[in-house]
Parts: sequence; C-alpha cells; structure tokens
Amino acid sequence: MQRTVVVAGGGISGLTACYHLAKDASVSKVILLEASNRLGGWMRTTRTDDGAIFEHGPRGIRPAGAVGKNTLCMVSGLGLEKKILPVLRSQPAAKNRYLYVNKALHKLPSSIGGVLRTIPPFTKPLFTCGLRDLVASRGTREDESIHEFVTRRFGKELADIVIDSLCRGVFAGDCRTLSLRSCFPFLYEAERRKRSVILGLATGGDRSPQPDSALIRKATEEKWSQWSLQGGLQTLSEALEDFIKEKGVEIHKDSPVTSLERTPDNRWKIMLPGGSIIADHLFGAVPAKVLSQLLPPSAGPMVSNLSQMSSATVAVVNLEYDGEALPVSVMIGGAWFESTFGDSVSSEKLLHLATEAAAVQLGLRGTPSRAIINLNKTCIPQYKVGHHKLTESIASFIQQHNLPLSLIGASYEGVSVNDCIYNARKSVQRLFGH
Ligand code: FAD
Repeated sequence: MQRTVVVAGGGISGLTACYHLAKDASVSKVILLEASNRLGGWMRTTRTDDGAIFEHGPRGIRPAGAVGKNTLCMVSGLGLEKKILPVLRSQPAAKNRYLYVNKALHKLPSSIGGVLRTIPPFTKPLFTCGLRDLVASRGTREDESIHEFVTRRFGKELADIVIDSLCRGVFAGDCRTLSLRSCFPFLYEAERRKRSVILGLATGGDRSPQPDSALIRKATEEKWSQWSLQGGLQTLSEALEDFIKEKGVEIHKDSPVTSLERTPDNRWKIMLPGGSIIADHLFGAVPAKVLSQLLPPSAGPMVSNLSQMSSATVAVVNLEYDGEALPVSVMIGGAWFESTFGDSVSSEKLLHLATEAAAVQLGLRGTPSRAIINLNKTCIPQYKVGHHKLTESIASFIQQHNLPLSLIGASYEGVSVNDCIYNARKSVQRLFGH
C-alpha cells in the first residue's frame, strides 16, 4: 500500500514514532515536520569544551518496568549500549534523597530501620502510614487529587511532606490539583484491585508484557536505579535523528505546521509556511494545546478537550562551582510560575533565586563559575483531576469520525521519557493492527 505518514513534532515522541515507522515496509514515505531548527524537543544538553554536561530538560531515565525496558530495547537498537552511564541503587546519588522542609535538609530513610523510627521532619514512624493503608477502605471516586488520595490512604503528613515534594520534582506540579488516576495509574489500579495500595502493589506489580534483552538483564543484575548517556540525554535524540535519516525519513526543520484540513478522501492537507503536504495518516506529536490550534473547525469538541490540557513553565538554572564534583540544576516555577512571576521574569532574578537556593540549601556559598539559564515555557503537562475524561473523549472522537490521526507525546498518557517512547511505539503498532 502506498502510504505517506507525517509526524508533526520532532521531540522524543515524534522521533520514536519515526524510528518505528521507518522500520515498517508498509509505509512508503515518512515525513517529520519540526517547528524549530533542531530535533529533540525538551531533550536538550549543553556540552562545554572542558567536558561538562548540562541538561536543560530530562536528565535521568528509569530502567524498571515495561516502559523502562522498552526504552532500553530502543537504546540497543540504536547501538548506544556502550554510552550508557548507569546510577546503581547502591550509589549515594540513588540512596541519599533529601527533602528541604522547615528550613532544613532531611535525609529520607533508605533502610527498614529508618522506617521503624521517628525521624524528622515526621512526627511518627513512617511504617504507621503503611498500617493505615492496610486497614483503610477502598475509595469510591472515579478520580481525585494525589493529595486527597494519599491523605485518605496514608495520612496527611505523608501527603504534605513527601508527596508534595515528589509531585514538584516529577511534574513541577501541585499535588492538590494533579490527578491520581492519570499521574500514578498503578496506585489507582492497586487500590481498585486489592483495596489496599500496599497489598495491590505487592501482589500485582507491572502486568504488561516485559521485554527481554542482554541490556535489560544487565540493568537488572547490576541494580540500576537510573541511567543517562555519555554526552547527556541529547545523545539519544541525536542517535534517533541519524537512524531515521539513514532509513530515508524526510526531515524538515524550521517547518511549523500552521493548520490542518481534511480532504474529501479522508486524508490530511497539512499547511506549512511555504506550502502544503498531503498525508494518509498524521501522528500529532506536538503539545495538546498546539494541536488544538491547528485542527479544523469540524473537530470542535476535540479541540475544546485538547485546549483544556495545560502545561507548567519551568526555569532551569544550571550552575557549576569551582572545586565541586557535580553541577547543580535548580528548577524554578512549575505550577506556581505565573502566581510568583506573572508573565515574565528576568534572567538576573532567576540566577539570583538559584544561587540563593544553592547557598541556603546546599551550602554552596561562592559565585558559580558557570551559569546557564533557560526558561522552558509550558514544558511539563499538568494532568489535572478528570484528565482521563479528556483523553477518553478525544479517543472516541477520533474513532467516531474515522480520523487518520494518532496522538502521541507527553500531553496524554505519561510525561516521562519512558512513557513518551512507549506510547509512541504503541501508537505505531496500533496503526498497523499489531
Ligand atoms: P516535546 O519535547 O515538547 O516535543 C514537541 C516538539 O514539537 C518540539 O520539538 C516542538 O518544537 C515541536 N512543535 C511544536 N509546535 C509545532 C508545530 N506547529 N509544528 C511542528 N512542530 C511543532 N522525563 C524523564 O523521564 N526524566 C527526567 O529527568 C525529566 N526531567 C525533565 C525536566 C524538564 C525541565 C522537562 C521540561 C521535562 C523533563 N522530563 C523528564 C519530561 C520529558 O523530558 C518530556 O515529557 C518529554 O521530553 C516530552 O517529549 P515530547 O516529544 O512528547 O514533547
């Protein structure tokens, strides 16, 4: 079958879709359209002449679970195995996790002993939160905030201290508005299946088919906690770019899609600044809000759902201090960006806030020898309570109207690099009926 498939958006999701499309013989042409002058989206690294690596977006990938293993399979497929830099669970970077609470750093327990004792900033041993979950009754709501869920199951202190920080770190978001069901589907499922989250996790685990490879076994045997790549994570998007180029994918940078029209024979006319392209199928790998502005008026209800999916702005300030082994990244803003800064904030202000945080929280009092400041506007999708209803309505609209469209990217079913890679692959497989 002669098929032209267009992928709009060259972040890790769009690149992964091209990687799998390029390997399928039933597609005669794959075209990647990227608005900016580079591929990789938020996956972006600065490499300095003296060998320092600064990540402006993602910096660590987890190897665990079906999604983590799927990424390792792609890493092997790209020939990047020798470039992997694992962080082992036994290493300090994985073992020592700190929370900054009440103007002091507190080390989170990393052993059973720490869970049995009362350690600051908590007022009781953490195991008592677990006991509470074992006896609490099953929730009845179809969705709730992460904070409500954890308070109900494990107590308010854990929600206020640990979960609040976790959601700031992972989603740059507010656990009081983020959806438990969409952000942590495995916790939602565990409670539904076994009433208790602990019992659900202990007896359920990850039930998706688990891929296997030599690299996956190595990661398991060596007990990797996370991994990155030599040259930073941008090495991954660069390897994908090289791979798809070699496989004949047509790559157009500086080519923002400006609008989408449907043709009478159920294809897409994709409008670009310098002309248009006809596609049999479109992978939308741009953020949901961007897509909502490209779709034709006939997609009304779907446009309304897509436009409700918002993202948080995060400023990333990378700092290097002479004599310190590791660079420091300070992330500022997130769900609180607008309420703190309004529409804009100067680089000087961001640098001041970052160096102050490094001084107060980490004791790094000198002047940084290098500082890189990036304002990542609307970079991390915020799955608010009820997000699943938006994704379900969008999926049923696409199906009912037989739209030749697959939606991939961090806006829908997981913001991590692993989720983006896994969902892009699943979408390509679905298109071919696998
Ligand atoms: P994007 O990267 O947003 O790519 C979308 C692409 O579409 C962009 O290249 C954009 O230019 C392009 N585009 C936009 N409009 C158009 C248009 N009209 N036409 C054509 N192209 C268009 N995840 C982890 O797993 N671990 C981490 O440590 C981690 N840390 C993070 C730290 C930060 C600061 C950020 C921002 C994210 C982090 N993430 C992390 C999350 C993860 O990096 C992202 O969710 C993921 O990279 C998103 O990829 P994507 O391809 O879906 O979207």
